[in-house]
Amino acid sequence: MVLTKVFCSKCGATRENFELVCTTCGSPFIIKVSGPYEKNTVSNYDYFETPIIPINLKTPIIETNQFMAKFEFYNPTLSYKDRGMNTLFSFLKYKKFLQEGDEVSEDSSGNAGASFAMFSKILGLKATVFTSVSANPNKMKQIEGYGSRTERINGSRKDVENSAKNSGLKYLGHQYWPEFYDGFRVIAYEIYEQMEHMPDNILIPFSTGTLYLGIFEGFSHLLQNGLIESIPTLWAIQPEKASGMYNRLNNIDREPEPSIADALTGVLPLRYSLLSSIIKTYGRCEVISENEIIDAKQYLLNLGIDCEYSSAITYAALKKFNLGKSSLLILTGHGIKNL
Ligand SMILES: [Zn+2]
Repeated sequence: MVLTKVFCSKCGATRENFELVCTTCGSPFIIKVSGPYEKNTVSNYDYFETPIIPINLKTPIIETNQFMAKFEFYNPTLSYKDRGMNTLFSFLKYKKFLQEGDEVSEDSSGNAGASFAMFSKILGLKATVFTSVSANPNKMKQIEGYGSRTERINGSRKDVENSAKNSGLKYLGHQYWPEFYDGFRVIAYEIYEQMEHMPDNILIPFSTGTLYLGIFEGFSHLLQNGLIESIPTLWAIQPEKASGMYNRLNNIDREPEPSIADALTGVLPLRYSLLSSIIKTYGRCEVISENEIIDAKQYLLNLGIDCEYSSAITYAALKKFNLGKSSLLILTGHGIKNL
C-alpha cells in the first residue's frame, strides 16, 4: 500500500485539517507518495476508498510516423482536468468535507470549471464557477450545461480567484489542493503500463504547472520502485503571450495576455520554486508563438486528431525543436472546446 503525505512546500509543516495554505508561513501544500507501486491504479491512492468515477479507464496512446500522443481529451468532460477533480472530490467526499446541498465555488479559465461542474452535479452540490470576461464561451456553456452558475469577472486572473474566495461559498480552488494535481500521477502510470518502451520526451502544455507536477510525481514513484531507469525529459510548453513560468526562469518582465490557447493562463505558478527545480533537473521550459499554435492545430486536424489549441501547442514544440519519433504529446483538451 502506498503512503501519501501532505505538507507545506516551504516550511514542511503538516496540513492539519482542510486549510488551503500553510497556517505557519502561508505557502501552498504539496503531496508526496512513497511505498510500492500497485498495478491497480486506485490502490496508489490512500486518501479515499472508492473514486467517484473509476480511474482504471485508460486514455489511448496513438502512434504516427512522427510522434506518439496520449488522448487526454477522452476524459468525461473532454479534458484531463477530470483526473484531478476525480481524486480531489473523492478525497473531499470520503473525509466528509462536502455534503449534499453545499454551496461551493471555484475559479477557472474553463476546462477545470467544466470538470468541477460535472463532479459538483454528481455529488449534489450547488456550484458557482468564477471566470474572466475573456473566457471561452463554449466552455461557459459546458459549465452551465452541468448545472453550475457562472460569474464573469472583469479583471486579472487574481481578481477572479479573489472573487471566488470571497463569495461566501465553500471555496474549492483546484490550484490549492494537492489532491487535485495528485490525480495526474495516473497519466505517468498509464504511460508506463501502455507503452512497450518509455518515450525520450514528453511534451506537456504548461499553465500553472499542476499537470506537469503530477506527471513528474508519477514517474518519480515508478523510479523509486525501480520500474523505470530514468524519467523522460519533461517539456513544459507555454504560449509566448502567456508564459509566466518561462519568463520568471529567464528573468523576462512581461505580463501575461490572453492567448488563442485559452486554457493556458500564463500566471506565475503557485508552486514556482518546486516546479523550477524540477524543470531545471528533468526538463525544459519553452514558448511557442500564436501562429505556430494555429498551424499545429490545423496539422493535427489533418491527421484526424481534433484537440484544442492549448494541446496543439505540444506539436508546435515538437516541430520547433526538431524532436524525434520517441516523443509523446499530452493532448489535454478536445477541439470541440474551440468551435
Ligand atoms: Zn509553511
